[in-house]
Formats: sequence, C-alpha cells, structure tokens
Amino acid sequence: MKDLKFDTKAIREGYRTTQEQEHSEAIFLTSSFVFDSAEQAANRFSKEEPGNIYARFTNPTVDAFEKKLAALEGADACVATSSGMAAIFASIMALVESGDHIVASRNMFGTSIVLLNTIVSKFNVGISYVDLSDLSQWKNAVQDNTKLFLLETPSNPLGEVVDITALSKISQANNILLAVDNAILSPALQNPIKLGADVVIHSATKYIDGQGRCLAGAVLGSEAIIEQISAFTRATGPSLSAFNAWIVLKGLDTLSLRMKAHSDNALKLASWLQTQDQVEKVHYLGLQSHPDHALANIQQSGFGGIVSFEVKGGRKAAFKVINATEILSITANLGDTKTTITHPASTTHGRLTDDEKQQANITEGLIRISVGLEDIGDVINDISKGL
Ligand SMILES: *Cc1c(COP(=O)(O)O)cnc(C)c1O
Repeated sequence: MKDLKFDTKAIREGYRTTQEQEHSEAIFLTSSFVFDSAEQAANRFSKEEPGNIYARFTNPTVDAFEKKLAALEGADACVATSSGMAAIFASIMALVESGDHIVASRNMFGTSIVLLNTIVSKFNVGISYVDLSDLSQWKNAVQDNTKLFLLETPSNPLGEVVDITALSKISQANNILLAVDNAILSPALQNPIKLGADVVIHSATKYIDGQGRCLAGAVLGSEAIIEQISAFTRATGPSLSAFNAWIVLKGLDTLSLRMKAHSDNALKLASWLQTQDQVEKVHYLGLQSHPDHALANIQQSGFGGIVSFEVKGGRKAAFKVINATEILSITANLGDTKTTITHPASTTHGRLTDDEKQQANITEGLIRISVGLEDIGDVINDISKGL
C-alpha cells in the first residue's frame, strides 16, 4: 500500500479478515495456537514455516496494529509492547551493551529519566544528559563507546524542539543509533524515520489510543533493529495484549482527524491565554512567539495538543486556576479526548531540585494543559474561572 496517503493507510493498512468475513478486525484472545500435525509444530518452531506459536511472540491482532503503525511511521518493521515504558526499556536493553554509553535529552518524560538513572545504570551503561535543542551539546557528549542518542521532540511541557535531520548527521557520523520518542505528536504530525532517526518509540497510551482506555507501546525501525528488540520482548514478556492491540488499532483509524482537532483547539487556547493579564507567558509551538516555531513548522505537520502557561503569583495562583476548573480533569495524563490540567513543578517534575527546575524553566506558576476535544469555548471558560 506504498502509494496511498496517510488517512487511507490509517484505515486500510494491516486490515485482514478471517473466514467469518467480519468487517471490523477480530480480537484474537488466545494465549497459544494449535498445529495441524506434529510436523507443522516442528516447522513452526524451527521457523521453516511462518505462523503463530504463542502470544508472547506473535498474535494476529497485535500484528495488524504493528503493520498499520509501521506504514504510518514509514518504518520497515514494528514491535508492539505492553506500555510506552516497556518500549523504551526493550529498545535500550536490545541495542545497548554493558560498557556502552547513552546520550539522552534532559527534557524527557520523567519515568524515562528514572529508568535510565535507576535501572539502566545498574548494567554498567554510562549516561550523559544534554539540552534537547543544543546540537553542540550532543556532539560534545559523544564518547568512543556511545551507542545511542535518546530523546523526545517536542519536549513536554515547554515544547522545545531539536532538528532531527541535523542531529541524525551527528549520530550517523559517529555510528550511533538515534531513537526518538514520538508520543507527543504521533505519526500524524511527525515521522522521525523520514527525518533520519533509526528508531521511533511510542507510548500508544497517549494519542494513538487517544481516549484514555489502555496502556500500549511500540518500537519501529529497520527489520534488523526490530528483530533485536522483539528477541528481547519474546524472552522477557512485555508483549502487547490482543485486547489492548485492538483498542489502539481502532485509535489509529481516527488519529489524523483527532490530531488536527487537538492542534486547532490548542492554538485557540494558546492565543486566548496570550491576551490574559494574569498570564505571564504562554508556551505553544504554534505561536509565532515560541522560539522553536520556525523549526517545528518545517519538521512537523502540526503543533499538537500540549499548551503550557505561567500565571503571575507562583504556585498559589497556579493551584487557584487548577482548583477553580469544573470541567477539566486534574491529572498528569495527556493525549486524551478529555482536557487535562496539571502543575508540573509539584507533579511530573516534582522530583527535580529547585536548581534543576530553574534550569528547565519549570516555574512554580507553570500550568500544563493537554488540550482535548471538548468545545474549546467551554475549556477556555473553565480555565478563566481561576484567572
Ligand atoms: C506517557 C509517556 C511515556 C510512557 O508511556 P506509558 O505508556 O505510560 O508507559 C513515554 N514517553 C512519553 C513522551 C510519554 O508521554
């Protein structure tokens, strides 16, 4: 289906039907598969004959999701995982060995940093952190044993962006794999592989599901890279369940429509916030005032649904805005049809020291909104209550 456009692939790619001729994909809720004969079993196990053996290895519903997501990211192959963190951990464990070194963006999802500092570091893997947007820091952090660059762009909550193409030149010149966590934009708004990344990682829990129903993850890349990563998941078990695969498969059908609506709503909210006296600063990539607006405009096909803003009056004023809302959900989750509101300094970024928060621009007055798909006028009214 190579020549088809994104929306056609999102609906048709990976589609299969059984002899029952069902129109919506079946959910194969089975842990194992049976064989016609002892010979067939032997051939399946020896890989002489392709086919399912056991759901920790493959499952038809999971396979449909992997094929569709690979088509949307422009990747040769995909392996689905039980969550976004499982996808990140499997990628690192498969691609990095004891004695290797990782350069990672400081501005990543909190648990990704915890994973590197508390789990990956136990395996004699060195980790250096750099500022996402600063290419010279990436270059200077490279050591002889550097195996992996790991980042997410744009960052959450402030929307910093790195030039993926420029960074991929540095990684390629040094024989380093470039892995990009694309959960914040989804393949509807950014395709890192087309920009030179080797590996794309997803928390499908976020926009790919899009309706806050389940955890899921995925890793995409070349056949060779994905074979290494699925060897790890087959042996360690963080496979995606068939039921959750079906949910995220359905999520992909409407992904680009939803991402466009999230982006449209986010721009309206950000533009309104800019006109408010009590708002000191608005961080949204879609605004001309954002320092990375021009780069995002080239690298992305939309600006996404994350808006953050600083209110005058620090934590007290921020808590007042959050507590005054009646429709919005006070939760750190993102990528849902429901708009969520959170105070990064005391939740997602609470583990940072005051100095680190200052360095990362996570101020006490900062509020993050993951803009959902409600009527944006109602969302704006709700936020205005505490301003
Ligand atoms: C949520 C998130 C993750 C972790 O995904 P889970 O599915 O919750 O394990 C990783 N990266 C980013 C950017 C996220 O937003």
